[in-house]
Amino acid sequence: MTTSSIPQWMKSRIVPDEIDRYLPASGDDFIPDAEIVRLLAVEGEPPAARVRDILAKALAVETLTLEDVAELMRVRDAGLWEEMREAAGAIKHKVYDNRIVTFAPLYLSSRCVNDCAYCGLRRSNAAMERRVLTMDEVRAETEALAGQLGHKRLIVVYGEHPESGVDYMVESIRSVYEVKVKTRRGVGQIRRVNVNAAPMSIAELKILHECGLGTFQVFQETYDRRAYARVHPAGTIKGDFRWRLTAMHRAQDAGIDDNGIGVLYGLADWRFELLAQQAHVHEMERFCGIGPHTLSFPRLEPAVNTPFAENSQWQVSDDDFERIVVLARLAVPYSGLIITARESPAMRRRLLPLGVTQMDAASNVGVGAYADGQQKQKGERQQFMLGDPRGLDEVIREWAQAGCITSFCTAGYRCGRTGKCIMDLLRSGTEGKFCKLNAVLTFKEWLDDFATAATQAVGEGLLAKELDAIREQQPQVWPAFQTTYQRIVAGERDLYF
Ligand code: SF4
Repeated sequence: MTTSSIPQWMKSRIVPDEIDRYLPASGDDFIPDAEIVRLLAVEGEPPAARVRDILAKALAVETLTLEDVAELMRVRDAGLWEEMREAAGAIKHKVYDNRIVTFAPLYLSSRCVNDCAYCGLRRSNAAMERRVLTMDEVRAETEALAGQLGHKRLIVVYGEHPESGVDYMVESIRSVYEVKVKTRRGVGQIRRVNVNAAPMSIAELKILHECGLGTFQVFQETYDRRAYARVHPAGTIKGDFRWRLTAMHRAQDAGIDDNGIGVLYGLADWRFELLAQQAHVHEMERFCGIGPHTLSFPRLEPAVNTPFAENSQWQVSDDDFERIVVLARLAVPYSGLIITARESPAMRRRLLPLGVTQMDAASNVGVGAYADGQQKQKGERQQFMLGDPRGLDEVIREWAQAGCITSFCTAGYRCGRTGKCIMDLLRSGTEGKFCKLNAVLTFKEWLDDFATAATQAVGEGLLAKELDAIREQQPQVWPAFQTTYQRIVAGERDLYF
């Protein structure tokens, strides 16, 4: 496609009928701005008994109402706040046990037709190096991720551009899945590719669905319409608030039922964002029968030649960020919560016990940076700067020391445990049993294939406790599990329940 035909391509992207069909005839959408503003205007702390009723509801893995969340937001009492933090940790443990799922981001292109004020990749940013990886380069990136680091799950990220449209996405995802690399004891490969991309039409999403993606993520960035319009210029594709707002409806209709949403914190009042996101969760539960598979919490980070990212009046403090994560854990008890390496090591440590289920590690968001062996971040190659540059071995050792087992499990979607099925299992606490088994198997694989001696020592100590727990708590599966575990010890790979 020539540069001159890009405006034409942009005009063809939005399908008005695939917005309107999901919204009421009244012309409203499902984000109730006036109701949220009303709830945020209420003053005074809720009674302790009311707070505890809401916590009991969350602990029963029930989605909270907007009013519930707004009341929890008004809690200032230190003792009640501590009860909320403890409940957040307890919910995570009930639904997901002591697992942390890990993954890496893989940026495949840095070309984008949009012009989002906060983003290093915006089209008007002349300081950015532009690149769309060839398939050989995609395979080289994958070899580094799967062969040197030992990752099994990726989130692939694309700018919105005709050079990285749906055909490119499908080809690149297939290229990732093709790669197999010999490791110390076995074979390394990526087994689950999640996608973070622009909203698409139903026809395109059906094409994407066929190539075997895991979760499909589209973040609204901000649910505040005025803030949205300020940072996403009119006339760009992303400038259409409702095309983005209905992205998950189209994904569901295209057969993609593991979907992730999120807010870019720092564009508007976080309290509004959290309540609006909760309204989005309710709408997904109504329309899809399930809420989001994951919620993400990116905070604005510096990016090269992007003053907006450092000057926003809505920057979220660390204390408020912790509050956001706790409130989100309570509000949607079954969804995975993702805290990425945008955050500093200290912040990630602080959030770990509060309900987080997924974190990336050894991340590099420069396009082509894994295969280049790029050690230092280079602003002109990346959308934003990361806060946690630590390697996977170090991070996994730290999690193990904190009693958390790193899971590389990718069994769920390969066994058909997706969408409503997995949500029902999570809500009932059943998925945790499969996940525990698969977490142990994949953790053992990774330790044998990639860990340093120091991490292996800590990891084996944790594994011994996990094996005891499985033997005691799941005696019916123990014989089959033990056999499978011994096959992993002997060097077989990719075995799962
Ligand atoms: S945030 Fe996404 S859509 Fe906006 S300029 Fe950056 S890459 Fe493009």
